[in-house]
Amino acid sequence: MLDKNIVRVAVPVPLRRCFDYRLPEDISARTLKPGMRLWVPFGRSQVMGIVDEVGVEPSIAPGKIKAAIKTLDETPILNKPLVWLCRWASQYYHHPLGEVYHSALPVYFRQDKDVVLKESRVWQLTEQGLQVDQLPKNAVRQTELLQYLREYPLGQSDEQLKQALGQYKSSLKSMENKGWVQQIVVKDDVDESGLESALDLNKAQEVAVEEICRYQDEFTAFLLYGVTGSGKTEVYLQVIQAVLTAGKQVLILVPEIGLTPQLLQRFSRRFAVPITVFHSGLSNGGRAQNWLQASTGRARIIIGTRSAVFACLQNPGLIIVDEEHDVSFKQQDGFRYSARDLAIVRARHEKIPIVLGSATPSLESMVNADEGRYTLLDLPERAGDAVHPDMHLIDLRHQKLDEGLSPVLIKHIHQHIEREGQVLLFLNRRGYAPTLLCHDCGWVGNCQRCDAHMTLHHASGQLRCHHCGTERRVDRHCPDCGSVDLRPIGQGTERTEEALKRHFPDVRIARIDRDTTRRKGEMERKLKQAESGEDQILLGTQLLAKGHHFPNVTLVAILDSDQGLFSADFRGGERMSQLILQVAGRAGRAEKSGEVLIQTHHPDHALLQYAIKQDYRVLTRALLEERQLVQWPPYSHLALLRAESTQRNKPMQFLREAAEKARLLSSNSQLMLLGPVPAPMEKRAGRYRAQLLLQAGERADLHNLLSCWLNEVEALKSSSTVRWSLDVDPQDMF
Ligand code: ADP
Ligand code: ZN
Ligand code: ZN
Repeated sequence: MLDKNIVRVAVPVPLRRCFDYRLPEDISARTLKPGMRLWVPFGRSQVMGIVDEVGVEPSIAPGKIKAAIKTLDETPILNKPLVWLCRWASQYYHHPLGEVYHSALPVYFRQDKDVVLKESRVWQLTEQGLQVDQLPKNAVRQTELLQYLREYPLGQSDEQLKQALGQYKSSLKSMENKGWVQQIVVKDDVDESGLESALDLNKAQEVAVEEICRYQDEFTAFLLYGVTGSGKTEVYLQVIQAVLTAGKQVLILVPEIGLTPQLLQRFSRRFAVPITVFHSGLSNGGRAQNWLQASTGRARIIIGTRSAVFACLQNPGLIIVDEEHDVSFKQQDGFRYSARDLAIVRARHEKIPIVLGSATPSLESMVNADEGRYTLLDLPERAGDAVHPDMHLIDLRHQKLDEGLSPVLIKHIHQHIEREGQVLLFLNRRGYAPTLLCHDCGWVGNCQRCDAHMTLHHASGQLRCHHCGTERRVDRHCPDCGSVDLRPIGQGTERTEEALKRHFPDVRIARIDRDTTRRKGEMERKLKQAESGEDQILLGTQLLAKGHHFPNVTLVAILDSDQGLFSADFRGGERMSQLILQVAGRAGRAEKSGEVLIQTHHPDHALLQYAIKQDYRVLTRALLEERQLVQWPPYSHLALLRAESTQRNKPMQFLREAAEKARLLSSNSQLMLLGPVPAPMEKRAGRYRAQLLLQAGERADLHNLLSCWLNEVEALKSSSTVRWSLDVDPQDMF
């Protein structure tokens, strides 16, 4: 029987069920709504739960039901559409609802604390500050602040300054004392003077903007497929303008924190509305404030990484997913959701348009467009006067290489630098060398906790495992035979930088990888400097491939394209092609024309041949044909059951039993079981890993099976001997 005083609550535990609580007398059932936070006892502690249903039939003996302690909200912190989205995600990813709610909400809200939106304050240059033109050479920080604030006429919050510049407080203080900066309270209608105006669109952009704007109050998914530099961002900006004019909010998802300041800047120069950001670099308090900015409707534009797909919006009008092909939209542990896919589901539910933008759309999205589920919008040409770069392969066979650099490449670098171009070199391996080898006995520096070599980091004199983080000092002697003839094998960015310094002693070289950008604000600073053209050679990892705009770059080279060509993952070819075209897109973005060189030992490889023709369409067609032949996604649907344990045999044993259960349940559906097999890197961080892949032609078959199967898997005795997790639509098979 329904009892109006029993509520079903989602608590943050890894159990795929909710828990019942009785309402104490001082909480009226009438005031409780799904999406509110409730403080409840759990085990021996107390936790924040989210009300899922009010007035339910108790699922356990009424005498055993505990009483809730108090409510934390007067109105639901998660509004109806968001509650709906979380429930949907919990079902689709077969993940505990309590954990879904908790990953949706900022950590701050897990505490027994009030949530109030504070006034937002920003720092701005004063009239006097704007007049300052030269500071003493040693006032580095102040100069930096001055320059930075000049770019943000509407001001920057403490949080934003910290994000962009790291340590800044004392410099800001002295500038405040001099009367150069002031802190002001942000008003909702900001001054419109000094804003940039919209560009005149070219024909293709115009068509795209018109198409999207036709669908302001209904769901439509657009795939904005535009080569790098074709002006996708300008399309976003003009569509956003229309949505803002209609009084609604816009949510923009980007793949990487590093891209938010850049977009933020571009947006705040264009729109006189409050903009807020969501990403992992924020403090807990800051994140909570930004959440409230979005949920109260004060912020009109919300820019964020993956988790921002759960931003609670008061009045959404449009969602944009920029660089939609990027793998970072998929969470790779815990609650493994795809922010891009959830964004589509969300837009459909909220009845608003969504735009997926990319120069290299995922194969899934290309097929969705081909089959009419997405409306394709094409931007085939670069905007303004920029033209496509020339692309060539450098055949490395029989060539004498200097630390991975071919003579042809070195010659080209010289030429471009002489003509005052900027050079961008990619090598997707940080560190000095991927392996250290003893030339006398063959000893190799392996990680003891992983099936992997440790990377040599010369500057710090360490061997580091890039998979588990283990670090070890490098001995002068081989640990096995005592020889001193230890040789670094292969190239990392640190080593290439050394070689470049030798070849170009008078040239400014900047290395940009995770090792050189660890400090807060360092990435921003390096990118700024790179953009300004001060550094003539930029050497970096994939970090540099994403969305950045370097107007002076005329030569881009990919130093080692071979690693991606023979990947064990069926998505390897797609990823490699995307990387090449994205990287190539960094060349010749402005008035200077560009050249792209790709070093390879396999110049005849079909993927490279397609890539240099820069025809992503033809390339995707070839890749899709392969996928169709072997029935990989998007021609089938996958779920991956992973297990790991410190004992080698446990994961396989558990997965074998799980596979048996699946076989019994799926006897009459079109379902394939692949495995179980040990993971491609079996041992990682001291744990042995194995996996079982489920493949189905129809999504519904897969999900029907998963629903019953997981209950049986949970009930297996062996399930408690391993750590296991389910990955629906896995992106990464390792
Ligand atoms: P994408 O996001 O597609 O890589 P961007 O939007 O960053 O491209 O545009 C690339 C460059 O082209 C930018 O410098 C931008 O200001 C410029 N641009 C975009 N649209 C136009 C246009 N219609 N006319 C002139 N320049 C444009
Ligand atoms: Zn040795
Ligand atoms: Zn390791």
